[in-house]
Amino acid sequence: MPPLRPGLEAFIAGLPKAELHVHHVGSASPRIVAELASRHPGSGVPQDPDALREFFTFRDFAHFIEVYITVVGLIRDAEDVRLLTYEVARDMARQNIRYAELTVTPHSSVTRGIPDVAFMEAIEDARTAAERDLGVVLRWCFDIPGELGLPAAEETARMACELRPEGLVSFGLGGPEIGWPRPQFKPYFDRAIAEGLRSVPHAGETTGPETVWDALRELRAERVGHGTSAARDPELLAYLAEHRVPLEVCPTSNVATRAVPSLAGHPLRRFVEAGVPVTINSDDPPMFSTDLNTEYAVAARLLDLDAAGLAGLAKNAVAASFLDEAGKARLNAEIDAHLAAWPR
Ligand SMILES: [Zn+2]
Repeated sequence: MPPLRPGLEAFIAGLPKAELHVHHVGSASPRIVAELASRHPGSGVPQDPDALREFFTFRDFAHFIEVYITVVGLIRDAEDVRLLTYEVARDMARQNIRYAELTVTPHSSVTRGIPDVAFMEAIEDARTAAERDLGVVLRWCFDIPGELGLPAAEETARMACELRPEGLVSFGLGGPEIGWPRPQFKPYFDRAIAEGLRSVPHAGETTGPETVWDALRELRAERVGHGTSAARDPELLAYLAEHRVPLEVCPTSNVATRAVPSLAGHPLRRFVEAGVPVTINSDDPPMFSTDLNTEYAVAARLLDLDAAGLAGLAKNAVAASFLDEAGKARLNAEIDAHLAAWPR
C-alpha cells in the first residue's frame, strides 16, 4: 500500500462527509460508555475513560462481541438512548461528518424493557438536537438482528411501519449471514418497501457472492452493506455497476472480522475498476479502533487518491445517500468549497 500523500490527513479532517454504514450502539466511544456507566454505577463497567480505552482496544472478533454486549447492557432506559445518540452525533461533528444514516436496532432495546414509543421519542429528540446544536443531520436505518430470526424481523418491521419516526429512511438486516439465508426475510422487506422505506441489507461480508445476489433479487437492495465477496463474481460486479448499486465499504471492519485478509488485500480498488459505486464507512468505529477519517485515509492509500479523488469519494456517499435533492446539493457544494480552498 502506498503511503498517504502529504497533507491529506488535514484535508480529510476538514472534508465535509456523509456516512451511510455506521451502527448506533457500535458507535459508542469510550467517552460515551464512561458517561453511560456513570448513570448505572452498579453495572461493573469502569467509569474511567482511560481504563475503557484499554478495554476498547481491538484484540480479536470475540473481544469485539464482548465490548458490544457490554455497551448494550448499559442502555437501560430512554435517557440512555437519547444520550448515546446525541453523543454519537457529537463524535461525528468532530470529524466533520455532516450527514449520517445510523443503523439502529430497536429490537435489542425494546426486548430489554425500553418501551418502543419511548425509544422512538429518544432517538428523535437526539436527532433534532444534534441537527440544531451540532449541524449533524441524522437519519435512521432500522435493522433486523438476523440471528434472532423471524420474530425479530416481524417486530422490527412492525416498529418501522407502525411507529415510523420522522428520521427513518431505510430498512436493514445485520447479524451473521451463515445459517441465516437472506430470502427468509423477504416478506419483512416487502412490507417496509411498501411503506416507502429503502432496502439496505448487509450481504456478502462473511458469505459468498450468492448472498449479495439474494439481497438484490429477494430483498431488492438499493445499497449493499459490505458486499466484499462480490469481488469474486465478475457478473455481479457488472450488475452492480450497470444498475448503480453502491457498496458500503468498511475497510478496517472487513479486516477485523476477517472478511478480507488484510487492508492491502482489500478489494476496494477492484470495485472501483469494475465501475461499482463505492462509499467509505466505519461500521462500529470505536470497537474497531477506527473512525471515518481513518477509513478515508485507508481508502486514499488503497486507491492512491489526491485531494480531488477524496472529494469524489465523499460525493459518492452523498449520491448514494437518501438525502433529498436540496440536501445533496448543499453537501456537494460544501465539499466543492473545501476542495477549492485546498492549497495545490
Ligand atoms: Zn454493519
